[in-house]
Amino acid sequence: MKILSVNAGSSSLKFQMYEMPEEKVLISGVFERIGLDNSFYTIKINGEKVKKEADLSNHDVAVNILIKELLENKTIDSLDEIKGVGHRIVHGADKFSNSVILTDDVIKEIEKFSDLAPLHNPANISGVYAFKKQIPNAVQVGCFDTAFHQTLKEDRFRYAVPDEWYTKYGVRKYGFHGMSHKYVSQRVMELLDKDLANVIVCHLGNGGSISAIRDGKCIDTTMGFTPNAGIIMGSRCGDIDYSIIPYIMGKTNMSITEIDNQLNKKSGMLGVSGVSSDFRDIDIKIEENHKPSILANDLYINSIVGYVAKYYVELGGIDALCFTAGVGENAPHIRRMIVDRLSCLGIKIDKEKNDEFRFGKEGIVSSQDSKVPVFVIPTDEEVVIARDTYDLI
Ligand code: AMP
Repeated sequence: MKILSVNAGSSSLKFQMYEMPEEKVLISGVFERIGLDNSFYTIKINGEKVKKEADLSNHDVAVNILIKELLENKTIDSLDEIKGVGHRIVHGADKFSNSVILTDDVIKEIEKFSDLAPLHNPANISGVYAFKKQIPNAVQVGCFDTAFHQTLKEDRFRYAVPDEWYTKYGVRKYGFHGMSHKYVSQRVMELLDKDLANVIVCHLGNGGSISAIRDGKCIDTTMGFTPNAGIIMGSRCGDIDYSIIPYIMGKTNMSITEIDNQLNKKSGMLGVSGVSSDFRDIDIKIEENHKPSILANDLYINSIVGYVAKYYVELGGIDALCFTAGVGENAPHIRRMIVDRLSCLGIKIDKEKNDEFRFGKEGIVSSQDSKVPVFVIPTDEEVVIARDTYDLI
């Protein structure tokens, strides 16, 4: 059965087509700069990548070209072969604890809480409409970034703010990156050959979050009401004292929108280093002994170690510590700095093995005498979408 896994952003649309249940990727690609000038797309098929320029005025146009490419490349002979389209949807609020078939009523429900994720949900939904229109016979499925964290208990998801903020306005911890945390925790349980296990997953990418997972169910996670909470990220601040906001507004006359923009896009590694949100650029500056980059790196490690220690205690010990996403998969020195700080818990890295695991390689990087195995597990959110879509069909 052929299934498309789709991630529609405001100006991009990523896709992978799977043969299910084999989970074989038949074709993948990304449409970029949708609605902007110089738009283009890249398609990868049989290991070959082709880049083409195209006028992508909206998601509809992108989906139309995508269908043409599928037919021209003979990935499909007719549209009826596509039985399902799974869509990544950032926010499912507390309404969706699992993936769901996107009926008109469900879409309306999701649209109702678009203000919880104003940058993401409307873009995700415009992708859904484009596919619904052009592949009407396929089952459309919504897979939420928040769903995996719906198992958090109230004593973990509530903030100590006036009760009405929660009951009336939905202010609570939702958590994000759920599909990545789900994939990695399931995969590590397979590798451990265990049905019951306590696992900490560190999803360290441009955005970053850490989850505490007991027997496949998330019990706590670092992102909160929005993806801005928790650990320090590429350009997001992570946890801060909220009083900084009115203080800076008073000092600078910045509006709340400008402050929000600075905390989302100009903070984190970029804000402190003054160099970049990309760890590769920061690493080069660290080599040159650039003090702000060294400080940014230290703050980053501290914020991660603090949460891993907290979750270790919350779980009452762990069976595995996992690293994933851009930094977690490709930056052994960051993994080493984190694990070295966990030596008081008996967790130890094998320096040589750790250096080997990059660029999509999966395996154990801890030393033989480590009390807990440390894994690098390349994340695969697309396959989670394809699996859930297949299961629902
Ligand atoms: P993601 O959001 O998971 O795609 O991760 C993207 C981020 O991973 C980039 O912004 C970089 O900071 C980081 N990254 C990717 N490759 C490397 C690498 N080889 N070394 C260090 N950091 C990397």
